[in-house]
Amino acid sequence: MGNRLFNVMEVCGTHTHALMQYGLREVYRNKMKLISGPGCPVCVTSQSDIDRLIYLCDLGIRIYTFGDLMKVPGTSGTLREKKALGADVREVYNPIDIIEDMRKDPTEGAVFAAIGFETTAPLVASLIKEIESASIENLYIFNLLKRIPPAIEALLEDPDCAIDGFLCPGHVATIIGELPFKKLSEKFEKPFVIAGFTRELLVFALEKMYEMLSSGISGVFNAYYSTVKPDGNPLAIEMLKSVFRASNAEWRGLGVIPDSGFKLKSENSVINALQIYPELSKISSKDQCPCGQVLKGKLDPENCEFFGVSCNPERPMGPCMVSSEGSCHAAFLYRNEI
Ligand code: SF4
Repeated sequence: MGNRLFNVMEVCGTHTHALMQYGLREVYRNKMKLISGPGCPVCVTSQSDIDRLIYLCDLGIRIYTFGDLMKVPGTSGTLREKKALGADVREVYNPIDIIEDMRKDPTEGAVFAAIGFETTAPLVASLIKEIESASIENLYIFNLLKRIPPAIEALLEDPDCAIDGFLCPGHVATIIGELPFKKLSEKFEKPFVIAGFTRELLVFALEKMYEMLSSGISGVFNAYYSTVKPDGNPLAIEMLKSVFRASNAEWRGLGVIPDSGFKLKSENSVINALQIYPELSKISSKDQCPCGQVLKGKLDPENCEFFGVSCNPERPMGPCMVSSEGSCHAAFLYRNEI
């Protein structure tokens, strides 16, 4: 196995940026090809879901969302463009702030576009509990939260998958711990290394990954043990279990992945935007750019025909260039170091 070039995927937008910023792709290029996967919440939001939000916007419903999602092109523009034309689209940093905003400036109906992974999901769960306890009746959740381990499983089940090992997202692992990655490692017999975010922690994780790959060792190594506990964060896990259950979810590029979403439990369905606006489920759109291939690790951003030509951070064609965590955005930002 000595001279083989291994394919290693990171599934975290912060890792993607840090690896490029520190030039680590270049440093390890003779040992491991570092490939970005579906680790950016904005990027994995499907075209259909962007169009569903724009549909709600056109109905005159107030939309709350995290910033980058406003810039992702739907079939007929972006939420930011809708806002410029007078639609009520509001950016939030912490979902719980929506409650105060709704109190200060009431509206007939508002929808929060909840995107994110296991790291963000507890914040959304807190918002849901707050909506219930404050009896707010006109704020609905368009729940686009996703779970990372089922997405990794879907990638590995692809017969063409050429990934040898995974750099696991430190923030997600802080919540879910090591166990979900252990199960994947046992099933697919590949190494998984949980990594932190500084240059030193990333080098530590990459050295361990290369050692495991070179020796043919599978398993989980926690290279972020100062922060990630084996059981994760039990309080956050309980919070998630009290509000959500696993359900299928649609990912850009990957399609519908079983158990990869957080479905609101039935007792919370009164705040589920899909129940309130059932026509949303009839909206279905096709991806408009090759981001899906990038998210599967099958297309390097620089090899996209639009990269840096008709697609750049000023005029993005797809979410991977829009999002500050997107791999196309990172590749453009650090292109001189690649
Ligand atoms: Fe999509 Fe632009 Fe990335 Fe190409 S460079 S995959 S068009 S975001």
